[in-house]
Amino acid sequence: MARILVTNSEGTPGVGKTAELLAAGAGGLDAIEAGIRLVEADTSIRTVGRGGWPNLLGEVELDAAMIDGSSFRSGAVGAVKGFLHPISIARAVLERLPHELLVGEGAARFAAEINAETTNNLTPDSERVWREWFEENVPAADRAKWPDVPLATLCQQAIDPEKGMDTTVFLSLDSKQEIMAGVSTSGWAWKYPGRLGDSPIIGAGCYADSRYGAAACTGTGEMAIRAGSARAIVLYMKMGLSLEAAVDEAIDDLRQLRGGLLQRITLHAIDRAGRHRVVALNAEKQLTYWLWQEGDAEAHAEPAEIIAL
Ligand code: ASP
Repeated sequence: MARILVTNSEGTPGVGKTAELLAAGAGGLDAIEAGIRLVEADTSIRTVGRGGWPNLLGEVELDAAMIDGSSFRSGAVGAVKGFLHPISIARAVLERLPHELLVGEGAARFAAEINAETTNNLTPDSERVWREWFEENVPAADRAKWPDVPLATLCQQAIDPEKGMDTTVFLSLDSKQEIMAGVSTSGWAWKYPGRLGDSPIIGAGCYADSRYGAAACTGTGEMAIRAGSARAIVLYMKMGLSLEAAVDEAIDDLRQLRGGLLQRITLHAIDRAGRHRVVALNAEKQLTYWLWQEGDAEAHAEPAEIIAL
């Protein structure tokens, strides 16, 4: 059995660190957290952490989750504002609380309690892009009353799946043959305030079970929530399907969804034998992901399979 790390292209700033730690024998949670922290702090990654896209009100709300596939403890935070490393807050939820998910003010309160690093996640460039959208799309009457205006219509107009939606996902099989997953995102650009995507929802955006494998999703989180995609992939493996077939079944589940936001989604999966599969559904351009396997000097980019839903 071989160690493995799969992360998507947003993982670029952190993949080397995580691979290095896994190669040195670190546990998956430590390796993943260290890698994702680098992604969160890198303002060139526009969909994760500082520099991520804001919501409709111009506020950056971050989501993150970690799951330990051996204990099945998970920790997640949703719509957390003003902290640099939501992944570390998620890890602290996993380790220090009898809960699995904290959101909004409660998540911020807990983050302060553990002395999590604060920051202004809205970078000048993210603010500039949001303001351009605001000037172009918000009617003058609403601008005068902002932010005390109904947001539902604006939210519908703001939906542009090609604009600023992504997440970083990390899946690992470590030297103890334990399987872990971690994800972090600013969610959907111009989302309705308080909107959670799949990332902080364990079983939707990520799942891990050291007996079988792990999975994580990027793209329209609403779809992964509705189909329970990450958990489904792992459960299909438990029911005896190969990694390949398990991902196919999860794709079939997504295909059954009707109505709502049916856009693009990418499924990432590994199994306990060290195999992996990454499938980009409805992708209009070639996507790559990072792969590191035991014995590799460093991670390398691979093209994702593309399948139309
Ligand atoms: N899945 C994320 C969300 O829905 C966004 C993305 O990965 O594109 O918040």
